[in-house]
Amino acid sequence: MPLTRRTLITTSAVLVASGPARAQVASTRMGAAELAVLSDGTITLPGSMLARNAPREEVTSLLTAAGLPTEEVTNALNVPVLRTGDTLVMFDCGAGRNFLPTTGRLPDSMERAGMDPAKVKHVLFTHAHPDHLWGALDEFDTPACPNATYHLSQAEWDFWFDPGVYGRLPEDRHAFAAGAQRVLKALEPQLKRFRPGEEVVPGIAAIDTAGHTPGHVSFEVRLGGDPFVIVGDAFTHPVLSFARPDWTTGFDQDGASAAASRRRLLGKLASEKLAFSAYHLPGGGLGRAEANGTSFRLVPAT
Ligand SMILES: [Zn+2]
Repeated sequence: MPLTRRTLITTSAVLVASGPARAQVASTRMGAAELAVLSDGTITLPGSMLARNAPREEVTSLLTAAGLPTEEVTNALNVPVLRTGDTLVMFDCGAGRNFLPTTGRLPDSMERAGMDPAKVKHVLFTHAHPDHLWGALDEFDTPACPNATYHLSQAEWDFWFDPGVYGRLPEDRHAFAAGAQRVLKALEPQLKRFRPGEEVVPGIAAIDTAGHTPGHVSFEVRLGGDPFVIVGDAFTHPVLSFARPDWTTGFDQDGASAAASRRRLLGKLASEKLAFSAYHLPGGGLGRAEANGTSFRLVPAT
């Protein structure tokens, strides 16, 4: 077969597709610490989940103008890990192997990034949805990071253990509650609860961004160098979350609170020029928010 430009392109595409996924999808330095973003895989959602309080045509035209898919959206699962010397602090845990065939890559990503789960000192959860929590247990149902202290907001714990939780979730999401209870119970001997505004571990404070779930938080990291924010699911789409922060996703438990939290956090990030990592955004989820009239836009972190 003659080696043409077309064959070369095809060959390299196949190599990329069949080669191992990159362990570390992004990283940035923060003083003496390094923030590495590891992949737990991907989740594909129907486009109808992107905005439930907006006309579908308006959503479609905004996505089309940005050159983004409209029918199905594949979200990254970005797990930020802060490495200071030999100590690791992880934010959320991925979805684990029991959630979807496309998730559960985190242990492999950690190994290939040279990170030992036994060296994880703290795990800070933004919230307890399956794609953030279920990876906390290994295949033996014991904590994947055996020496870690796990941290969850009190409001999040209270929501998932409320006897009325099933009534507050659509039926197809009842497994979320059963899973949250199962995983959190297994973590309980190593789990501490905090309230927004508190410094959860030295240099890392929780910011109230409730709405996506009742106890959803983000984290402001100040360890010398530029401060940094771990966003969780306050933003989940690279265009819609910024251009239309008032649109709520199919996964926001309380749409009005989620939108208010999103706007407040975007305002803070834009005015303080803070870099952030968001769990589902492309490219490792690193970025900054810039004001754009009455809304915002996502810009590169550096
Ligand atoms: Zn999520």
